Amino acid sequence: MRRGKVSLVGAGPGDPGLLTVKAARLVARAEVLIYDYLAAEPIVALAPPHCQRIYVGKKAGQHTLPQQEIDALLVRLGREGRRVVRLKGGDPFVFGRGGEEAEALAAAGVAFEIVPGITSAIAAPAYAGIPVTHREHNAQFVVCTGHEDPGKLASTIDWAKLADPHRTIVMLMAMGNLREIAGCLMAEGLPAQTPVAVVREGTKPDQRTATGTLATIADVVEREGLAAPAVVVIGSVVALRERIRWFDCGALAGKGVLITRPPEDAGEMSERLYELGARPISAPLIAIEPPHDISAARTAVEHAGAYQWIVFTSRNGVRAFFEHAAALGRDARVLGGVKIAAIGSVTAQTLRAHGLRADFVPDDYVAEAVADGLLERTSAGERVLLYRAAGARDVLPERLRANGRICEVVAAYRTRALGDPALREKLARADVLTFASSSTVRAFVAALDGDLSPSRGKTVACIGPITAQTAREAGLHVDVVAEVHTADGLIDALEATALT
Ligand code: SAH
Repeated sequence: MRRGKVSLVGAGPGDPGLLTVKAARLVARAEVLIYDYLAAEPIVALAPPHCQRIYVGKKAGQHTLPQQEIDALLVRLGREGRRVVRLKGGDPFVFGRGGEEAEALAAAGVAFEIVPGITSAIAAPAYAGIPVTHREHNAQFVVCTGHEDPGKLASTIDWAKLADPHRTIVMLMAMGNLREIAGCLMAEGLPAQTPVAVVREGTKPDQRTATGTLATIADVVEREGLAAPAVVVIGSVVALRERIRWFDCGALAGKGVLITRPPEDAGEMSERLYELGARPISAPLIAIEPPHDISAARTAVEHAGAYQWIVFTSRNGVRAFFEHAAALGRDARVLGGVKIAAIGSVTAQTLRAHGLRADFVPDDYVAEAVADGLLERTSAGERVLLYRAAGARDVLPERLRANGRICEVVAAYRTRALGDPALREKLARADVLTFASSSTVRAFVAALDGDLSPSRGKTVACIGPITAQTAREAGLHVDVVAEVHTADGLIDALEATALT
């Protein structure tokens, strides 16, 4: 039997970008994933579809599975020869009970490894603009648990020693005892005006930071209703936040952004939104599917060499082309010397990934301008293949034909509108709605049965003028139209717009 291995993996504090390369690799090939409430959803989503996911809970006071049972589960799965990833928030050994799990595995003779993670003790302050050390402030920082009530007689924490103004104190799990802790540190001589910050859900789109002093922080936290999970930072470095705050002050920070594109295209948008502190909300409203007439799509690929030009209007067209070619047992060579036009930089990029350089990438993606560019490069009687979505606009072929080109339009793929039963609930959480194509707009309207009231008051952002026009015609109020018609361009345009 193949020997199993249990990987105790630090998942970092929440931002999926803070996952280590090794952790991402292990999660992506896990057979069993064991995680708790600190594991961010986008990280759990990296596990392959067939991976067994086991939630073991663990929130202060409401353990779903007791620690001994988690240990026993790891041992059992390891012995079964499975590839087990035990995902832990932050670093597995920083108040993560990873030590106990490793002991249990070692005692049982099950192979294991430890993959350190970025601990919230450092990352949450960093995302709040607080460096845990700074030459002008201190030369030490201490990470400790605030789980213990300092009033408890047999405290293992030496509070008198901790109360040193020349160090930063970072406390995890301290929310339950914050008032007692602050009182105790003041009683031990730490000045009442020592700055304190509480960073909740650090590095995540819901990150919130409250600041005060030892004397005031418990009241501030109560007033603002901040609860666990939060990191408490005590020391003069907290004041630096005023100058170097960066994550939670951008135009998109904390904003819920609805992504309506198909899942295969949504990933890059979510990643970028995360980096900007926004909360991506995935609501794929269209799916890209093979066309009704597959044989026409394939015949065009097989006879691509008979055209002088082939025009790809989206990356989906490029992907479809190569899928149809592969189904025929063919590859890029079917194109021979055919010249290629690619509408949009992403389309050109997708071609490059297949080793093809587009001969013509129009600056303007609007059909009229593309037709003019193609007319300049072709002469009457030449054959042009338009390999694109079923049901797309006819401006381009009409213009080419009116000028004597032989233009054939082939449906390479089609977009199918998807319903989303959770759409209304997702809309309630969204501040911004994004549309990357007219088909997503139509699918959105259909998913709401034409009742657009849940979208009122939200910022509507479209990838380009045609999508914007479709949105306006559907009755949406369009606030942002990207100048560069790519997902990145859309996010740039949103960032540049001061959202209210
Ligand atoms: N191993 C984890 C800590 C686990 S103990 C690590 O290295 O980060 C759980 C405590 O960690 C929480 O009570 C909270 O104090 C802190 N914590 C974990 N993730 C956090 C986050 N994203 N923001 C703020 N605090 C967090």
